[in-house]
Amino acid sequence: MATIQSNLQAVNTRIAAACAAFGRDRADVRLVAVSKTWPAEAVREAAAAGQLDFGENYLQEALDKIAALSSLPEKLSWHFIGPLQSNKTRPVAEHFDWVHSVDREKIAERLNAQRPEGAPALNLCIQVNISGEASKSGVEPAALATLARAVARMPRLKLRGLMSVPEPTGDEALSRRRFASLRKLLEELNRDGHALDTLSMGMTTDLEAAVAEGATMVRIGTAIFGQRHQALE
Ligand SMILES: *Cc1c(COP(=O)(O)O)cnc(C)c1O
Repeated sequence: MATIQSNLQAVNTRIAAACAAFGRDRADVRLVAVSKTWPAEAVREAAAAGQLDFGENYLQEALDKIAALSSLPEKLSWHFIGPLQSNKTRPVAEHFDWVHSVDREKIAERLNAQRPEGAPALNLCIQVNISGEASKSGVEPAALATLARAVARMPRLKLRGLMSVPEPTGDEALSRRRFASLRKLLEELNRDGHALDTLSMGMTTDLEAAVAEGATMVRIGTAIFGQRHQALE
């Protein structure tokens, strides 16, 4: 059976190969290991293999893991990547290093107000709905510039970039067009005066397409930890 360590090695090899194929610098693509539904032990094993960035979708589960692993010698970075309700922002502001899934000003305002004094500003990405389905979370591209301006004014938040979760297509060319549209939105914001450096895009099945289109963070779960058994929404 493949171990987390060998899976991680294989994923890092995929990222390196994609960087080489598409003229990207490997140092510019950060791997976020998505550990949702997996126990703290799995995170511990990945950390022992050198993986330090972890993504979580479910708040209570994540808080339990963060607490269980707080005494690890490695300093882990925790990324909240799931849907965020406004009554659950405080523990996210207190315990995470990054939030990738902000799509409303109200959520950003609460995170800004609740980020503890003395902690560095919370790194934040705005989630954008680039595949245009009514059911998906993420701000509509037309509303992005207004939201980005508002977030950029919040002193306890550091707006880093954009994130997207386009539905899987199985069609590499279509995936690339969607990821390219997120990159173009980031470039437009930077032309308007922002200085954003993060494109959080690409999962197990489409990481190559994302790297080809400029991803600086890929969020990979299944290829590292295995197939999830728990039903997810
Ligand atoms: C679950 C999840 C991932 C990881 O997906 P895999 O296909 O398992 O790699 C990445 N991003 C988000 C937002 C997720 O919810």
